Amino acid sequence: MAKDVICEVSSCRNWAGNNRCSAESIFIVNNKESNAHRSAETDCKTFDPK
Ligand code: SF4
Repeated sequence: MAKDVICEVSSCRNWAGNNRCSAESIFIVNNKESNAHRSAETDCKTFDPK
């Protein structure tokens, strides 16, 4: 279980400054049909645009 989530996506409503995420939990998904092999192939589905 992640202790802290550090995120730079300041355009998200859950972004809390100092690169923190204020969401109760987050859901990370593959951004392609097959399983990710690199971080660039993952996305935060909890993202909520401001
Ligand atoms: S919900 Fe996802 S995109 Fe939004 S601040 Fe948290 S980790 Fe970042």
